[in-house]
Amino acid sequence: MNVRIVLAFVLGVAVTVGLLAVWTIGVDMPMAEARSDRSPAKAASTLDVYYPGTEKLAPDEMRVVACGTGMPSPRPKQAAACWLVELGNGDKFLFDLGAGSHERIAAQKIPYDYIDKVFLGHLHVDHFGDLGSFWLGGTTMNRLTPLRVWGPSGPTPELGTAHALKLMEKMYAWDIDTRSGVIDARGMVLKVTEFDYKAVNKIIFQENGVTIRTIPAIHAIDGAVSFILEWNGLKFSYSSDTAPNKWWLEHTRNSDISIHESFLAPSLLVSKQKFTAKEALIVGTIAHTSPQQFGKLMSITKPRLAVGYHFQNDFDTLPIMLEEARKIYDGPLVFAQDYTVFNITKDTIRVRESAIDEAIFPEPPTKPKQPVPPATSPPFSKFISSGIEKFPEVVDPIWDAINKAHGTNHKPPE
Ligand SMILES: [Zn+2]
Ligand SMILES: [Zn+2]
Repeated sequence: MNVRIVLAFVLGVAVTVGLLAVWTIGVDMPMAEARSDRSPAKAASTLDVYYPGTEKLAPDEMRVVACGTGMPSPRPKQAAACWLVELGNGDKFLFDLGAGSHERIAAQKIPYDYIDKVFLGHLHVDHFGDLGSFWLGGTTMNRLTPLRVWGPSGPTPELGTAHALKLMEKMYAWDIDTRSGVIDARGMVLKVTEFDYKAVNKIIFQENGVTIRTIPAIHAIDGAVSFILEWNGLKFSYSSDTAPNKWWLEHTRNSDISIHESFLAPSLLVSKQKFTAKEALIVGTIAHTSPQQFGKLMSITKPRLAVGYHFQNDFDTLPIMLEEARKIYDGPLVFAQDYTVFNITKDTIRVRESAIDEAIFPEPPTKPKQPVPPATSPPFSKFISSGIEKFPEVVDPIWDAINKAHGTNHKPPE
């Protein structure tokens, strides 16, 4: 044994003896009484974090949840564009439904029946890439109401929302057919309303005291829009994607919450995303709105709270984004992360992050399920049927146990 090994052994013995001594002393101490007045075991009185599904909305309150604040390629930290608006009258609205946002919506623990209104700002995949998943996945997970979708026309009929969603329905023919005869299909219905993308501050939705207007956006080609929702004296403006434009300046003034894209600054497009200088300038200031341009828009429209989104919001990008925006705008400002939540009344605006339960199950439907008509889809072919292994010695006891537990008498198909 060399000197070092001997030393390590001696030290090890000493530490073990020391730990045993502490453990022995701990067992003998009367701990419960000594600690009760120093460490209260009751719940905290106020929460700095939002736990979805645990807070009632006041009748005059609006809650806005960022369900996607990132870029066309979603990442674990940020889905692509999606904003949930919940109102004290019970109404809920989705603005955009970009790739990856469905799971953020699911994390809100809201029964799918209640989220049946979607407004699409334009047809980029980072603004409607999860529509199919939310529509059909939501149906298998208990939505029993049709999904209503509003979206803009395009410069030609083939580039409009109605055409795109008609093709989407066709694209999902196999998925839809597989549900036939199995699930209550009322939620499989898409109700699409296409409106004129050139409409300026025109009403496209008016129900239950909620008015939603649309204004043109300037983004890529004709056919993008922004939205303005008004209810109970509160005004929510949402840009979707747009370069700075006159309609936004004219119609979103005095918003309570003004959510506008603030794209990754051109310097960051070069350093982080390896754009060329020309690409960064065109994408960052012409196709989109840079943080300085965002700051300019907010300094003119003066919302109660300005919210920027649509960039990778990280420890090293956020300080640059803030520095850029603050060159122009010194009012109330948040650069949102996924799950940032805003509670808005006429008197207060509260901004928090959410604590998310990653293991949620879908909430049960709010309506009774209806009997499902017989399947209209073609049965398995003889070829596929010939491959089935029934394992009756395994399956029959499963059916017996479930029948016994529920007082039923179901038999496996022949
Ligand atoms: Zn876009
Ligand atoms: Zn976008």
